[in-house]
Amino acid sequence: MSDTLVVNEIYLSLQGESTFAGLPCVFIRLTACDLRCSYCDTAYAFTEGKKKSLEEICTEVRQLAAPFRPPLNPQPLGAAKRSGDGSTLNSVPLVELTGGEPLLQKNSLPLMKLLCDDGFTVLLETSGAHDISPVDPRVRRIMDLKCPGSGEAERNRWANLKLLKATDEIKFVIRTVEDYEWARRQIPEHRLNLVCPLLFSWVHPLAPEQQNKSLKKVPAGQTAVSRRELAERIIADALPVRFQVQLHKIIWPPKQRGV
Ligand code: SF4
Repeated sequence: MSDTLVVNEIYLSLQGESTFAGLPCVFIRLTACDLRCSYCDTAYAFTEGKKKSLEEICTEVRQLAAPFRPPLNPQPLGAAKRSGDGSTLNSVPLVELTGGEPLLQKNSLPLMKLLCDDGFTVLLETSGAHDISPVDPRVRRIMDLKCPGSGEAERNRWANLKLLKATDEIKFVIRTVEDYEWARRQIPEHRLNLVCPLLFSWVHPLAPEQQNKSLKKVPAGQTAVSRRELAERIIADALPVRFQVQLHKIIWPPKQRGV
């Protein structure tokens, strides 16, 4: 097996979602996805990409992370520290594999291992349609459960749920009232609040140039939900979830790449 991956882009920005939102993060966006979610804002990663060796990728990540390394402190870049209350702090920058769907390329597995060995806190964004069991146990897996409005709900790989740990996260991307009601039902049905943090993420509308003909349509008859409505429903229903918006889309223009 050749030790390469097809990479769409590697860049340093702020983590825009998840419980890690706001922290500096090096993103490795891998090319290709086998889903076509109605709200996908990274359709450019379906095909655009360049082959790179794992060594090249790790070197690029280390270069982007270098300014965060304290000059007189030889500890590994990602060495965990203890905060005053004894909890573990993740040192920065984080490194996230995203896409596209990172698990479509088998070499994403050794890459994640190498990055963990390097001491980074590694996050994986995955659609939830693929087996997460081979992923290095040190990786924080942020796994989608696709709601009906995505047009891809039948692709949820439910067997993944029993593999999740407290260090992982489940993300529901919500664009309609029907999505919200569906996501809400999954919590008691699968006792998800006992598994890991749950994210209810509002879909930022796509800019016209982000639309892609291959994306699925929202099923007929669904009603769009606003950001505020979603927040208010969560409060009214007393859901044990974290509401989130895509932070990077508030800071930078929603269509901007590399942020
Ligand atoms: S899984 Fe992610 S990358 Fe793939 S189509 Fe859906 S939103 Fe886009």
